[in-house]
Amino acid sequence: MQKIQNYINGILVAPNSGTYIDNYEPATGKVYGLIPDSDSYDVELAVKAAKNAFPAWSTTTVTERSKILSRISELIDKHLDRLALAESIDNGKPVWLASMIDIPRAASNFQFYATAILHYASGAHAMANKAINYTLRDPIGVVGCISPWNLPLYLFSWKIAPALAAGNCVVAKPSEVTPMTAYLLSEICIEAGLPPGVLNIVHGLGHSAGNAIVSHKEVTAISFTGGTQTGAQIAKIAAPMFKKLSLELGGKNPNIIFADCDYDKMLATTMRSSFANQGQICLCGSRIFVERSIYEKFKNDFVEKTKALVVGDPNEKSSKMGAIVSKAHQQKILSYIQLAKEEGGVVLAGGHAQQLEGRCKDGYFIAPTIIEGLDYNCRTNQEEIFGPVVTIMPFDTEQEVLMYANSVKYGLASTIWTSNISRATSMSQQIHAGIVWINCWLLRDLRTPFGGVKASGVGREGGFHALDFFTEPKNVCIEY
Ligand code: NDP
Repeated sequence: MQKIQNYINGILVAPNSGTYIDNYEPATGKVYGLIPDSDSYDVELAVKAAKNAFPAWSTTTVTERSKILSRISELIDKHLDRLALAESIDNGKPVWLASMIDIPRAASNFQFYATAILHYASGAHAMANKAINYTLRDPIGVVGCISPWNLPLYLFSWKIAPALAAGNCVVAKPSEVTPMTAYLLSEICIEAGLPPGVLNIVHGLGHSAGNAIVSHKEVTAISFTGGTQTGAQIAKIAAPMFKKLSLELGGKNPNIIFADCDYDKMLATTMRSSFANQGQICLCGSRIFVERSIYEKFKNDFVEKTKALVVGDPNEKSSKMGAIVSKAHQQKILSYIQLAKEEGGVVLAGGHAQQLEGRCKDGYFIAPTIIEGLDYNCRTNQEEIFGPVVTIMPFDTEQEVLMYANSVKYGLASTIWTSNISRATSMSQQIHAGIVWINCWLLRDLRTPFGGVKASGVGREGGFHALDFFTEPKNVCIEY
């Protein structure tokens, strides 16, 4: 049974309370590790360490910071197999997926910000024959980074890397559901020679450890990715304390398919955008709108392919889908399938927990599920399910489908499939989302702004946007 520790002031330490939380392997339903149940005392130690480290770290040259972040990236690459296996055991996703996506992307996040900081510049504004303004971008101080369980190391590093690159010291909390790769990252940071206190990782529950980070008066900015409700709770605490806030929240993304699309590419990609990572990606397209003339063909092909998807042991290369992250989340998804039926939906594929045999007989699996026959405005089509469940609906006109797409409170991502460039351009302008993919999905360039509108969040991550968030601009005006 592996017992992990907090990473505070450069060393691995037990939680003050001495108590630990069980860590489950979702594919087997068994406890396989123990996680520190940290509280405000541990957070206090972490903030103190970060505060002490800040003067030296914030004045280190960008070249030196860049070197250390590159070293972390190289070590993530070096330990790829170990990290991928750990991510799979913790989260339930197939090992091949963690090896191909999660861990390489975590290495890229560190590498990207190791170089981005070298090219980060601020502006100057000359006032004709009178004065010049120049803008400094200073690190903020001690910042809090809180991340969810669906892409554990990938999203954790997406926050930590720009925060450190900009010269801040960090107190971070991964989801208590998937803490293992964050723990392995602390070992990597020690190996990479990151100075003590620059990054502190506190494990524990959201309402205790997470809340202590958010409400600590010395933590002046919070970067949070997670559910919309949690985001609202965090904003309630942080806003009156005038903290900088970046909130990446939930989604209910439309996937809009026109008859003139590249059908084969659309079908293959729609399989991924529906069920990749067991549908537990905030960018998955869970509402699929199909132009009526190809609706029946799409339905038949999509159902056939979905029924053929292998849900299995995450260790097996043949498993296209692994386990749902926790028993509680599995039950939540199943309750939404039940709700869909009560709302008049017809289950075309899946619709039930999937029972495996052998090692995984007690794991939390769900068969990939397609539901049709629901109104665009029913609860199933309005609320985030965050699992391998999609609905399909026909439409006739662009205006009609735009209304459906924009009818939800969320506005994270959207996908449009069409070969008509004018239509794609016009729809992209009218759709309420922070991200529009045309004839593709999850094609990510780390330089682009990432984030949502409406209940999907506030602010943007990615590229220089994250460096803007993790620095404070100061204008200096000189009259001559
Ligand atoms: P949660 O909001 O439950 O948790 C996210 C993180 O916040 C966890 O580390 C959690 O800890 C912590 N937390 C919970 N309550 C508090 C609190 N009161 N104060 C401080 N921290 C707290 O989200 P999930 O982990 O369930 O992740 C799924 C959600 O994340 C989905 O809604 C999904 O759409 C969203 N998401 C958004 C993305 C985006 O980029 N917009 C990307 C990926 C996911 P603990 O685990 O202990 O509860």
